[in-house]
Amino acid sequence: MKTIDLLFFLLVVCTGYANSGTMPEKKSLALNILVFSPHPDDDVIGCGGSIAKHIKSGHNVTAVYMTSGTACPSRYSPEELGIVREKEATDAADILGVQNLIFLRYPDGGLAYSPEVIAMLEGLIKQTKPDKIYIPHKNDSHKDHKMTYQLVCQALASILQKSLEEWKQPIVLCYEVWTPLQYVSHKENITDYMPLKIAALQKHASQIELVRFDKAVKALNRYRGIMKECGRYCECFELLKWSLLKKTHAAKIHLHTPDHNLDTEAVTTESFVVTP
Ligand SMILES: [Zn+2]
Repeated sequence: MKTIDLLFFLLVVCTGYANSGTMPEKKSLALNILVFSPHPDDDVIGCGGSIAKHIKSGHNVTAVYMTSGTACPSRYSPEELGIVREKEATDAADILGVQNLIFLRYPDGGLAYSPEVIAMLEGLIKQTKPDKIYIPHKNDSHKDHKMTYQLVCQALASILQKSLEEWKQPIVLCYEVWTPLQYVSHKENITDYMPLKIAALQKHASQIELVRFDKAVKALNRYRGIMKECGRYCECFELLKWSLLKKTHAAKIHLHTPDHNLDTEAVTTESFVVTP
């Protein structure tokens, strides 16, 4: 046995001996992450780098697509486009490492308030038991994005009201797609994950041929990196305050009132981080 092999052998034996039955079992730190996406590409645009970072940390990520994005201009029929876009989402998820995908197939461009949808989201959230949830932010200019925010918030408020004792409140981070955030309360350095994010986004070929989202989001994340001094590329979020959801229920505000917008409160601290 060569010296180096012998040293390695002794190291393995000694380490094994020292650890046998004396070390406490390592606790699992795997978090459950739930990402709500109005259309099949929004998760990658808004938080693809953070998703890749979660996967790298061993977290369980579930992506939920509210619509299959069948209403955008395309050479495909709406039926064909739905199939194409779900395949693109699946291919993009493969690159990021996301294994759990849920396609809800609500009408693209017509996502609306409905007690049934809220009840379904409530069930999904309870079943998934997320530690962290990603949704679009409240001021995104696309109405499906805004409605996704409102529906998920209403489902969370409903859970909060019904099961205050046993409910472990997840961190809710609101991401930017069509409209950049005005107030940022959480930032994530995604420099090491930017190539994966762009590769995943480029799987959405039906969308990239309409708008160069890959170039746009690379520029946005670069801008965030510089302005927030957070690596070369950075994703920014607004943190949803749970106190607001409590207030929402206390005041019995109904989201289907046309001019009501559930609001987030701007916070300036960055008390949550994605990776342990
Ligand atoms: Zn979208």
